[in-house]
Amino acid sequence: MEILHVSAECYPMAKAGGLGDVVGALPKYQTKAGHYAKVVMPMYRTKFLYSNEWAVDYKGVAFLGGARFEFTIIKEKTNKLGFDLYLVDIPGLLDREKIYGYQDDTERFISFQIAVLTWVNQWSHQPDIIHVHDYHAGFIPFMLKNCFAFSKLAMVKSVLTIHNAQYQGVIGWDKYYLLPEYDSFKWGDLDWNNAINPLASAVKCAWSVTTVSQSYMNELRFHSNGLEKLFEYEKGKCRGILNGIDNEVWNPETDNYLDHNFSVKTVTAGKKKNKKKLCNLFGLDEHLPLFVFIGRLVGEKAADILPGAFLNVLHHQAGKASFLVLGSGDKAVEARLSAIMHQYPQHYYCVIGYDEALSHKMYASADFLLMPSRVEPCGLNQMYALRYGTVPMVRSTGGLQDTVTDMGEYEGFGIRFNHASEGDIAHAIYRATQVYQSKTHFEWMRKYMMQIDHSWERSVDEYMQVYL
Ligand code: ADP
Repeated sequence: MEILHVSAECYPMAKAGGLGDVVGALPKYQTKAGHYAKVVMPMYRTKFLYSNEWAVDYKGVAFLGGARFEFTIIKEKTNKLGFDLYLVDIPGLLDREKIYGYQDDTERFISFQIAVLTWVNQWSHQPDIIHVHDYHAGFIPFMLKNCFAFSKLAMVKSVLTIHNAQYQGVIGWDKYYLLPEYDSFKWGDLDWNNAINPLASAVKCAWSVTTVSQSYMNELRFHSNGLEKLFEYEKGKCRGILNGIDNEVWNPETDNYLDHNFSVKTVTAGKKKNKKKLCNLFGLDEHLPLFVFIGRLVGEKAADILPGAFLNVLHHQAGKASFLVLGSGDKAVEARLSAIMHQYPQHYYCVIGYDEALSHKMYASADFLLMPSRVEPCGLNQMYALRYGTVPMVRSTGGLQDTVTDMGEYEGFGIRFNHASEGDIAHAIYRATQVYQSKTHFEWMRKYMMQIDHSWERSVDEYMQVYL
């Protein structure tokens, strides 16, 4: 099967979160399974772009509204990622460093999608599947079915994967002219609540829809930022497929970012050495259980309640735990998290920013990883934590619920709690410090969770069933 993935992110070219990890791994494992998977994404000006070799694949012209634009598609020369990676360059729109956050993101991503279909439209054959990810590629299913310019592709199956339904890319009807000319009877396929909604449009028009865990799929029918009725109506073609993790990138035995590699057999000593190095770097007490948080500092991740929860524990359970935070996002949360460093320098440190290398070191060194998320479609951090022998502490929601069992259950290996509240987090930390004392049980948990299989092979099979 030939599968073309269309996405705004793909690791290692550009990643802001889980979407990048998934689009960097799924095609690789699809290729390994004998299919021909490719990825096409915007040509941001990232380090990966400048440190690799590219060949021009196609040069074309298209229209965004009335405005003509030229675009170039380049291809990575060596297939080093295990799949063909194509980048779309549109001068003036996509030639920027960051992935998101510009005022003209609407124009950027619509022109990207038009360029992709213009390119595919002139292939001598058709791909079996066009697999679009999140709202940035969400107009493609509509354009395939309804835009006159792409009528040749009308029978190509499109699959939408929703990595996060909070972001929908809604725009006013005043921007309708940005899309290529379409069958105007079909305007309803673009509309949701009197606005153009690319995510809703993709749910309506895609041949099949997946989300990244079964629990999240169920939750969307009750909480999806206004799309609840749509998910209820379309549930017949929707399905949850849990993400895998790239076991080649996330392997504590070979991970180049780590100071000391380790395996299931050597986990206790290996993690201890990594922890010592990391704690020394940030002036933390290496003898205490180390709790880490890695992620976007936004409401979805419940980052706003972290400062209160940490202060609660640092004050009431003084000297019982060390904390290390890595993330960026909401400026007020960043400031509150940073301020704690001055109050408890030996027990708390916070790094504001994005740091791939440090994140790997943290998964390897930590004893516990906190994820109190209000919304978590799948969550990858907890799966990386499992692989690196770090006990996940998660709120029971979405993919967290599907991947972590509580240590109070039979063969349970993590800590679960119900509410994104300071009290629940503080109580979970108390439970963690207790189990940390019980060395034999704690070591059993580590070894058990490191052997859980979250590889992509299983998910690849499920995607194949969706494509057929
Ligand atoms: P989301 O996509 O909602 O942000 P996921 O759990 O699906 O959350 O994926 C998060 C990914 O981004 C993980 O690979 C995590 O390690 C990484 N990540 C998030 N924030 C940072 C950061 N500040 N520095 C390094 N890696 C980060």
